[in-house]
Amino acid sequence: MEYFVSLERALELTKQVSVQLDEEEIILDNAHGRYLSRSLESKVDDPPFDNSSMDGFAVRHLDTLSPPVRLQIIGTSQAAAISEELVVEKGQAAQIMTGAPIPIGSDAIIMVEKTKTSTDGEWVEILAEAKPGFIRKRGENLEKGVEALHVGSKLTPHRLGLAATMGYPHIPVYKKLKVAIISTGDELKQPGEELQRGEIYESNSFGLAGLVKELNCIPIRYPACADSMDKLRSALDTAVAEADIILTSGGVSMGEWDLVRKIMEEEGDIHFWRVKIRPGSPPIFGTWKGTPIFGLPGNPVSSHVVFRMLTRPWILEQMGAKGPHETIVPVKLLEDVKATSDCHTLRRVTIYKSDAGMVASMKTHQGSGNLHSLVAANALTYLQPGSTAKTGQTIDVILL
Ligand code: AMP
Ligand code: MG
Repeated sequence: MEYFVSLERALELTKQVSVQLDEEEIILDNAHGRYLSRSLESKVDDPPFDNSSMDGFAVRHLDTLSPPVRLQIIGTSQAAAISEELVVEKGQAAQIMTGAPIPIGSDAIIMVEKTKTSTDGEWVEILAEAKPGFIRKRGENLEKGVEALHVGSKLTPHRLGLAATMGYPHIPVYKKLKVAIISTGDELKQPGEELQRGEIYESNSFGLAGLVKELNCIPIRYPACADSMDKLRSALDTAVAEADIILTSGGVSMGEWDLVRKIMEEEGDIHFWRVKIRPGSPPIFGTWKGTPIFGLPGNPVSSHVVFRMLTRPWILEQMGAKGPHETIVPVKLLEDVKATSDCHTLRRVTIYKSDAGMVASMKTHQGSGNLHSLVAANALTYLQPGSTAKTGQTIDVILL
């Protein structure tokens, strides 16, 4: 077990544990947000045939070098309907719609705005030189056989469109990981219940379930677990049976009632305990009966921040996603930020565009129990241990 490790070391240690990922084949309609379990090569050329990028006329380029010229209209090429015998000879033109196949003999397109058709529809007057560039060549976007979607890619709307373009009605993806979420603490009550003195509403499991869903995994939210070794053991065992990954919240500090730490010390396998980040230094990572477990801090902001910094990148990498997993941007500080000498400092800030460029301000107090401050923020400072962060200085922030 390693104690109080750097953020980089914690990330390294999480990578030594992995989950078994199964594949499934699903239809494209259901694939949004999922992760490809195999790379896909195009089944077709894109586009599959030479076609027009404009409504207009397909012509022989040489015929249009000295406009205006009059050409004879021999027919129409519409999307998905080209008559085989449509052959453009010298002095002729074929009407053409965007996306329609290029008739034999033609090698340029004149857009309809640069033409005048005779009232009987027999002739077209070409008012400018036609453009070969308005022909989209077969395979110019993607050639058949080229691997354009890679294993581990998240199926964004753009990638779904490309999978369809490449001819896939269904695609191989990783099965959704199931993530058990166990909050711990005698003081926790479900929202809606009457609070007695000393009790608070349980919030971490709801936030964590949302964070898990954002990764397209399935959260299994258990009722809050009382601070009892037996109850905790039984909750963890149930989670092992039902989920691939376990998240707990609370009970990982030094106190006598920090039972997640205690039970992991006595019966689990801890890879590290405590990480050099502020907020969020208490987490435990290891396995419980072979299942990876992140023991997140109880303080609500800390539980979200630790998930973001440790759990999220690990889950993404389990699904084959290639980093970087964060968008980091430079911003100018409008106030001093209290940095620490030995930890990464991850304060909640609001960033926005001003006359001075992108700036960051801290609108709320930074207590790690203050979830409201996380709601008000849209970024976390990303300050290396030992760095300073004074007003006017430019620092990196992670976009939330
Ligand atoms: P702990 O690490 O268990 O000592 O918890 C630290 C702080 O976070 C305490 O003030 C707890 O009441 C609070 N806390 C722990 N778990 C939760 C939870 N699931 N929802 C909201 N607050 C919590
Ligand atoms: Mg507790």
